[in-house]
Amino acid sequence: MKPLGIYKDKSEFVKIVNENQHVISKSPLKKGVKEITGNCSACGDQKAKFKILSDNYRESIICNSCDCNTRNRSVAARINKEEGKLLFLEAITPLARLMSYKKRDSIFCEYLGDNYKSGEIIGGIRHENILDSSLEDQSVNAVISTDVFEHVADFETAILECFRILKPNGKIIFTIPFRGEEETSKRADIKNGKINYIKEAEYHGNPVSGASDSLVFTDFGWDIFEIGKRCGFKNCYAEAYAGEDFAIIGTLVGIFIYEK
Ligand SMILES: [Zn+2]
Repeated sequence: MKPLGIYKDKSEFVKIVNENQHVISKSPLKKGVKEITGNCSACGDQKAKFKILSDNYRESIICNSCDCNTRNRSVAARINKEEGKLLFLEAITPLARLMSYKKRDSIFCEYLGDNYKSGEIIGGIRHENILDSSLEDQSVNAVISTDVFEHVADFETAILECFRILKPNGKIIFTIPFRGEEETSKRADIKNGKINYIKEAEYHGNPVSGASDSLVFTDFGWDIFEIGKRCGFKNCYAEAYAGEDFAIIGTLVGIFIYEK
């Protein structure tokens, strides 16, 4: 599966959206369709059935074979060709479970709380704080992060840490909830060890706790590419994914890539 296009700013993004309305604006639920079939780019099932759980199509067109949603299947399509040691900032999700078979040399981790040291194994899960990880300099080929960076207390520090642990020509491949604001801004930060709320608190689902208790620290804007460059990455862009054959419809999944 190939991306519909690459964008580095709002005008390039709008052009891709306008050219692909036939896929992006599809709304199967409005027509009463709750299941579709197609090719799953995550598990490879070519006649997969996908259940549609809500009209948040990015999060909800779920493969019956591997449980991956639209966003995860897009990321899987993008990372299929990545080789070497990948660091996944997830360990217990459907995507991580699947990739642990496909990407044998990779590391899978979760953030399990402030009480642990990066690199510790807790109940079979490796804990890593991406603000201060246990990984060596230049030790991984890519960092894979799906909707995690908004929950990290300081996005730029996380990106600098990724830069440190990436090999030359390594990359971060990530998704974030992107709201299309002009500038990235903080919803909250940490002051003197305590959470300082700047905007109204917003929480997302947390695969570790199973509850909606992951605080959002950052709202992302169109300076996302400049931030990557500021942190030392030479190429910063996004790829747009959608496609009817792959049951990626009703949405456009942007995958951000920072290349070292
Ligand atoms: Zn699948």
